[in-house]
Amino acid sequence: MTDAFIGLGSNLGDSVALLSEARIAIDQLAGCCIVAASSLYRSAPVGPQDQPDYFNAVLLIDTSMSAPALLAALQHLEQQAGRVRVRHWGERTLDLDILLYGGQVINQTNLQIPHPRLTERAFVLKPLLEISSHLTLPDGQSLAASCAATADQPICLHNDSRWSVVP
Ligand code: ATP
Ligand code: CA
Ligand code: CA
Repeated sequence: MTDAFIGLGSNLGDSVALLSEARIAIDQLAGCCIVAASSLYRSAPVGPQDQPDYFNAVLLIDTSMSAPALLAALQHLEQQAGRVRVRHWGERTLDLDILLYGGQVINQTNLQIPHPRLTERAFVLKPLLEISSHLTLPDGQSLAASCAATADQPICLHNDSRWSVVP
């Protein structure tokens, strides 16, 4: 079994419901169970600014799936949530990224781990560090230091019972 961190995002449709449903669906994937879930956060969009704010969270899972199999399963859940790719970094019903997969480094065309933009994004780092405050990259780089460098990015906690009551 491998520990993996998954980043969840949504800014189209009923985002909190979509993220809560995705959380349940990930827990129900064969060979996956959720070990910890961050709070829900709300943040300004990265990329095009003429789109709604994002809701984000991070899950820590324990999985027997390989990283490519996990990516395929997550992309299937994105499709089930009606995701359509309209424009780069544009609005989406559901985005599921593999942030870290054990201590592995993967550099395939369609799969890079650690997620290549993980250290630049407060909406990833805040929830990640909430689950694991001393987390490092496979090369030992401190993510708390990266997070401190993103302090200018607007992000706040978003309390919603639909997220917090998920078992
Ligand atoms: P970003 O990757 O900057 O967060 P995005 O999430 O909007 O942008 P997508 O359109 O969802 O990007 O995904 C583009 C491609 O990224 C996917 O088809 C997938 O093959 C690839 N990819 C590479 N590494 C990862 C990863 N660690 N997790 C998820 N997708 C990845
Ligand atoms: Ca993403
Ligand atoms: Ca993605």
